[in-house]
Amino acid sequence: MKTRIPIEVSARHIHLSKKDLEKLFGKGYKIKVLRKLYQPGEFAATETIELQVNSNRFPKLRVTGPLRKETQIELSQTDAIFLGMNVPIRKSGDFKGTPGAFLIGPKGKVKIKRGIINAWRHIHCNLQEAKKLGIKNGDLVSVKTKGTGSVTFHNVMVRVGENYKLSMHLDADEGNAARITQKGEGILLNQKEK
Ligand SMILES: [Zn+2]
Repeated sequence: MKTRIPIEVSARHIHLSKKDLEKLFGKGYKIKVLRKLYQPGEFAATETIELQVNSNRFPKLRVTGPLRKETQIELSQTDAIFLGMNVPIRKSGDFKGTPGAFLIGPKGKVKIKRGIINAWRHIHCNLQEAKKLGIKNGDLVSVKTKGTGSVTFHNVMVRVGENYKLSMHLDADEGNAARITQKGEGILLNQKEK
């Protein structure tokens, strides 16, 4: 049986810690919802910050909520090349050996020592969806995208969470390679062990 997976392409963005948020926007500041994202509780915020690496910068990097324990910036490989830096492929929250940057907000600046990643391509799903698909948390699977620009992505990490809804997340480069601008669809091809 073929299994359809909705695909969403994530633009570059930043998740802020409370500490860094307050340094950038002032004490007690609360970020506001611009647009709810498909995963429950996740949202694009109205706020942006400036990201600086050496003399290169992204002047309006979108803040994504809710707040995280530690600040995390998700960039594509094209973004990394633009900034002139090496950004490793990492799971969300895995910051060992990742580069940092200067962040500039309306009320202040902060230098983070680490936290920039190229997010490991992944599928979000809840336990029921995972069971139905025959996959489990941490599995690496392959997904073939639909359409004229169809490509197959390997090493797609399965992330099972109680509140997740089935969807695959790609970065902008991956989306471009598959000719998917914001939303698309793929077929789960196989499962293999970690
Ligand atoms: Zn995701």
